[in-house]
Amino acid sequence: MAVVGFDLGFQNCYIAVVKSGGIETVANEFTDRCTPAVVSFGPKNRFVGNAAKNQAITNPASTVCNFKRLHGRLFEDAVVQAERANLPYDLAPLCDGRVSAKIPSFFTDSERRSVLDAAKIAGLNCLRLMNDTSAVALSYGIYKQDLPDPEEKPRIVFFVDMGHSAFQVSACAFNKGKLKVLSTAFDPYLGGRDFDQRLVEHFCAEFKSKYKLDVKSRVRALLRLQQECEKLKKLMSSNSTDIPLNIECFMDDKDVSGKMNRYWSQAKFEELCADLIERVTVPLVAALEQAQVQLQDINAVEIVGGATRIPAVKAQISKFFRRDVSTTLNADEAVARGCALQCA
Ligand code: ATP
Ligand code: MG
Repeated sequence: MAVVGFDLGFQNCYIAVVKSGGIETVANEFTDRCTPAVVSFGPKNRFVGNAAKNQAITNPASTVCNFKRLHGRLFEDAVVQAERANLPYDLAPLCDGRVSAKIPSFFTDSERRSVLDAAKIAGLNCLRLMNDTSAVALSYGIYKQDLPDPEEKPRIVFFVDMGHSAFQVSACAFNKGKLKVLSTAFDPYLGGRDFDQRLVEHFCAEFKSKYKLDVKSRVRALLRLQQECEKLKKLMSSNSTDIPLNIECFMDDKDVSGKMNRYWSQAKFEELCADLIERVTVPLVAALEQAQVQLQDINAVEIVGGATRIPAVKAQISKFFRRDVSTTLNADEAVARGCALQCA
């Protein structure tokens, strides 16, 4: 019987399987190893993953995305109410007060919101729910042949993960066959989407003055702008030149354009996000203090999660630890691979 590990991300999911002595991250029907965490409800069909993401703009009210934070919470929960403001679909309380996504008609399983319930719906026998940081540490430990013997001084590794919604840090001590988590720290409100949002706000203001368009008054336009801003953010990670943003027939048949640059010329991404970049340090300080280790005792700082590809985020982590960060692990797939290992 095959055992698989899941990374249920806020934005993306990955699935890894242990097979003939190795771990493999499996591809979906689009031969893509990354599957968007999106479910879309059409009049007759339910779409999942890439197919659902394609509906995000044409069918926003019935396309459920960004729902990881809602699992198992009450509708009145402050977290739910904060998330609600950013969602293109409606939320509603169930009779027991838990939150549900309000989707037209046939969605009869709307009560079954928690992750374990979702696993059951998919016909999966969930062996264990793991948190992301433990899974990442496991995937690291398994490949390191040169860990110190049990009686020796452990190797201290910090794992820093910035995903789409959250930022988490853990400090771990490794010996051969032994892994101890020394500390963990989080900023649950700092992730790639906050960087996207800064770009969105910037272009909303620019398009208002340049084209007299009120982008926020139209949900489709806003969603398109969000998608374009995320692409722009990713492009800026590998280019330091000006990156154009062009959207045709954006609103009222108008084409719009703008540009952004990482750190120079008129529009500066790093300036727009300066406070977000500063906030990266806070959980790092907390994790270091709790772990009771000195900077010079740390053997490696491993980064994972898509948003650690933002050069300023990476630089901030590196500056704090006063060393280059390592990317031994697959930034996107490490969680799923660790989960697979745990249960193998
Ligand atoms: P979370 O861990 O918060 O639950 P997640 O696991 O779904 O979310 P990841 O898949 O680790 O998140 O990362 C997704 C984020 O990484 C998105 O914000 C995405 O835009 C960002 N990202 C991916 N590639 C890049 C890149 N090259 N440059 C900048 N950001 C990137
Ligand atoms: Mg993640």
